[in-house]
Amino acid sequence: MNKVGFTTTIPLEILVAAKKIPVDLNNVFITHPNKKALLERAESDGFPRNICNWIKGIYSVVLQTDVSEVIAVTQGDCSNTHALMETLQFKGIQVIPFFYPYDRDPELLSISLNKLMDHYKVNEENCLNAKHELDGIRKNVHHIDKLTWEEDIVSGEENHYFQVCTSDMNQDLAAFDIETDSFLKSLQKRTRYSEEIRLGYIGVPPVFSDLYTFIESLNARVVFNEMQRQFSMPYPTTSLLEQYLKYTYPYDIFTRIEDIKKEVERRKIDGLIHYVQSFCFRQIEDAILKKTISLPILTIEGDQPSTLDSRNRMKIEVFIEMLGNKQR
Ligand code: SF4
Repeated sequence: MNKVGFTTTIPLEILVAAKKIPVDLNNVFITHPNKKALLERAESDGFPRNICNWIKGIYSVVLQTDVSEVIAVTQGDCSNTHALMETLQFKGIQVIPFFYPYDRDPELLSISLNKLMDHYKVNEENCLNAKHELDGIRKNVHHIDKLTWEEDIVSGEENHYFQVCTSDMNQDLAAFDIETDSFLKSLQKRTRYSEEIRLGYIGVPPVFSDLYTFIESLNARVVFNEMQRQFSMPYPTTSLLEQYLKYTYPYDIFTRIEDIKKEVERRKIDGLIHYVQSFCFRQIEDAILKKTISLPILTIEGDQPSTLDSRNRMKIEVFIEMLGNKQR
């Protein structure tokens, strides 16, 4: 089995059906013991300082790990992916393009899925079998999510971790399945969280390592991780096409907003934290989010992978205090 890297969530079923090891390059970067060296390597190879650090991290991860090829999502993810693909190809890495059509056109998405299936020499039946296997693990993760907001026995960070891992199932489906099972068993002894403020986290996953624990130190908790939840394919579906049409992340922001509004209500959320990455085009969407969601939204920005800086700590403290005052 060889490893296939990817730059954002792709139809995992196709890789599983092809008996490849899926590697979400973002996860490898953010858990790497020497992230600084990865960023320096990218900059010394010519990446400008004012380019998102996730892109630089992904670039260096590909050069340092044993992935045989990279699937790059050319539409529906990051505006920097084209140049990333070019620099990787220039370094001799095989790059396979995949796209999510902006307008959610089922015909176009079907073409994109079929092209990827052809590349890996698998058919729809193989992929449906893989979906069945993956859905079993996703079911556990959906349960963990539910226990976060309905039973209040899962922390915001645990919720983030299990959902974000579903993009590549931690590169080992069987081991991740066992991990989710034993985590669920361990919850039987938990006492309920009783924080005053319930928060939602929207936007790309954070580069900060202590965001969730800091929030929990302030008598608040994240009970909704928006994009991470999307990686876990939260809607019941019967085909790959249906599943990847419902997945909100790669398309327009308006379907994301509908999903956020629904979850805010269901999870009784008091306020939202919108995380934006420095030099990311998605920062522009902040204005639309604030105009369309009638809930207090705090925007925080991160650049280098690190713990929270004092400015963001202060912003979060003030925001949570303000939400607390509103409740009294
Ligand atoms: S944070 Fe933004 S710019 Fe960076 S990789 Fe993600 S989508 Fe691209």
